[in-house]
Amino acid sequence: MKKVIVQKFGGTSVADTEKIKNIAKVVIKEKENGNDVVVVVSAMGHTTDHLVKMAKELTPNPSGREMDMLLSTGECVSIALLTMAIQAQGYDAISFNAMQVGIMTENIHSKARIVNIRTEKLRKNLEEGKIIVVAGFQGVTEDGEITTLGRGGSDTSAVALAAALNAERCDIYTDVEGVYTTDPRVVPNASKLDEVSYEEMLELAHAGANVLHPRSVETAKQFAVPMRVRSSFKLEDMGTLIVGVEKMELYRPVAGVAADLSQARIVVCDVPDRPGVAADLFTALAGENISVDMIIQSYARKVSNTNDIAFTVDSNDLSKTMAVLDKLKNEIGASDVKVDDEIAKVSIVGAGMIDRPGIASTMFATLAKLGVNIKMISTSEIKISCLVDKSDAQKCVKALHTVFNLESDVIADVKGDLPDV
Ligand code: ADP
Ligand code: ASP
Ligand code: MG
Repeated sequence: MKKVIVQKFGGTSVADTEKIKNIAKVVIKEKENGNDVVVVVSAMGHTTDHLVKMAKELTPNPSGREMDMLLSTGECVSIALLTMAIQAQGYDAISFNAMQVGIMTENIHSKARIVNIRTEKLRKNLEEGKIIVVAGFQGVTEDGEITTLGRGGSDTSAVALAAALNAERCDIYTDVEGVYTTDPRVVPNASKLDEVSYEEMLELAHAGANVLHPRSVETAKQFAVPMRVRSSFKLEDMGTLIVGVEKMELYRPVAGVAADLSQARIVVCDVPDRPGVAADLFTALAGENISVDMIIQSYARKVSNTNDIAFTVDSNDLSKTMAVLDKLKNEIGASDVKVDDEIAKVSIVGAGMIDRPGIASTMFATLAKLGVNIKMISTSEIKISCLVDKSDAQKCVKALHTVFNLESDVIADVKGDLPDV
């Protein structure tokens, strides 16, 4: 049996018909290598943003069902055009949308999770020698409803297809040459990482490094799908391989820095200090499918026997969150709800920080030197995040990138060594 390779091309890679013609050549080359090829594509250029804008011109709160119906159309255009381009070069190819394949998801609009992928049709068409082009980002429920996986979700479609087909590799082709120590558009001397672990990549993606959709990394880790991020335009560059942590050379404590500018902070003030309040609050939010990120509960005030609960949500979920809190505020006895959406989460990530003291203090001291006030802090074993004012985010990223020796010339010098921070 031939090896299956899944290739995914993002919006910039298929932005116009000239680019689509070039992508067709990349696809054909993989087929010519003797592999079975399944291609996943995103909508062309900024199509999805334009569709969102049109919907918002009609109503501030479009229904989830109609949004998914609308946004899923972008990918349908790209699959047909890329398939035509491949056929025009004399190769047999066929396009499928999610419903035709059977990319089955939960019945949740705008951020559905894939639960299963039917492979019969894909296997049959591969056996017939066809190149298959599948629409990313979309799914279908058992009831035949169209869903989408969340912005940037085509990466997840590709990895899930690779897992379902037991593919040899999933190559994510994009507009940069791989995963960098931070967004190379913000810090031009960021270094490209040859390898990054699933764990680090997952944290970086959750922290705002939108080069990969977080759930694609989660899926790749779960099903051990070898995954590579590489450029659609510089094909000679091998990009970044995502690997298991045991294969990493941990020559530096911090692998990358990221900023997430789409967060909002909410403070629920003066809630009674009794069991069940946090449960009521977060159960109500979960019921509306709102993901909460950082959470802080203040030390209880002795006199009033109350405390404050602060947390962050994606700013796209802010109006839904406020609707929940409006209803709940009196029920849980809060005096007020305060919102701040001019904030950003700045994070450092690295498997090498485990058991190395001094990393958090270096981060806090760096922000202090910049005069930046930290509003919230959260940590995992391999990540430290600070909530800061949005206007401070870029300078924090730049300073942390320097302090942790992540610049391209420094990285080249210290490879194999453990630099001090
Ligand atoms: P695509 O349309 O191919 O899915 P995206 O725009 O979703 O592309 O992701 C690629 C972008 O991710 C890059 O252009 C870059 O600006 C941004 N990015 C953010 N953080 C990083 C990082 N650590 N490494 C590489 N790119 C990053
Ligand atoms: N087209 C979708 C988006 O812009 C999905 C993707 O690009 O991965 O979010
Ligand atoms: Mg993307």
